[in-house]
Amino acid sequence: MTALLTLSDMGVEIGRTRLLDGVSLTLDRGEILGLVGESGSGKSLTALAITGLLPLIGGRISAGSLRFDGTELTTLPEAERRRLRGKRIGFVMQNPMTALDGVQRIGEQVDVVSRLHLGLSPDAARLRTLDLLAQLRIPEPAAVAQAYPHQLSGGMKQRIVIAMALAGEPDLIIADEPTTALDVTVQAQIIQILTQLARQRGLALLLITHDMGVVAQVCDRVAVLYAGRIAEMRAVSPIFAAPAHPYTAALIGCIPRAGMAPGSLHGIPGAVPTAGRYPEGCRFHPRCAAAADACRQGHPALSRLADGGAVACHFPLTEAP
Ligand code: SF4
Repeated sequence: MTALLTLSDMGVEIGRTRLLDGVSLTLDRGEILGLVGESGSGKSLTALAITGLLPLIGGRISAGSLRFDGTELTTLPEAERRRLRGKRIGFVMQNPMTALDGVQRIGEQVDVVSRLHLGLSPDAARLRTLDLLAQLRIPEPAAVAQAYPHQLSGGMKQRIVIAMALAGEPDLIIADEPTTALDVTVQAQIIQILTQLARQRGLALLLITHDMGVVAQVCDRVAVLYAGRIAEMRAVSPIFAAPAHPYTAALIGCIPRAGMAPGSLHGIPGAVPTAGRYPEGCRFHPRCAAAADACRQGHPALSRLADGGAVACHFPLTEAP
């Protein structure tokens, strides 16, 4: 089966600085792929590249290929990319206020997506909006449709943004840390609603997060990004059972677990290098306890594991059975 989304050796630059390098990943129809890594690893840049919004921050795809449902997006004219965005590719941003217009009623903002992309009449679009709000478990959808964004809580606003992403009947949703701006009490609810709706509708979902606990619960596969490169990409069960990349192992080691002794939770020493100032060789080597001379000299290529996953490390922790 051909993947719905395929990134092959994709590079992204802002000015002359290469921020993403050789990023390769695939996403199948109906699959939930977690894209994880610390801040500064390049997760949001990957989302902007897929949605065609890099020019908003002065960026561009400078190398490789980005294919969506058989169409090469790197050479697609902007007018066609705009048609894809919102209709076939929905985008849920970190901060709902970035996506919502503060002076327009909620109903009008959701209606416009299905009017524009599905050609619905105003009445049909409103019926569809109310149905979507109900599916997102928003109480009193008709009253909420008449409200302005500032009258809603952060969690409600993010549900509206998800409704807008779903309104064009997309095949793929990119959700970029969709709960970061929300209270911890509503974060789990939003993730649960989003992933349930994706499963029910058979949508592909690229869930960008720094939370490995969320990945373990809701994703099928995970791609780990470090300093603009893919470190490891595998199905969720094997990666949590036996991570192959030391960075993946370190991220998993940061997940708090019930019954842990006080003081036994450790972070990863050091920090993600600044973009454009990446160390020679493996970019993780200054933070890696297993680093050897070979790691400081050549960057490890992404190589296949026996379980179908891939890892970029000279000395992987495990060879999958
Ligand atoms: Fe660590 Fe070397 Fe693997 Fe990089 S290549 S993660 S430094 S062992």
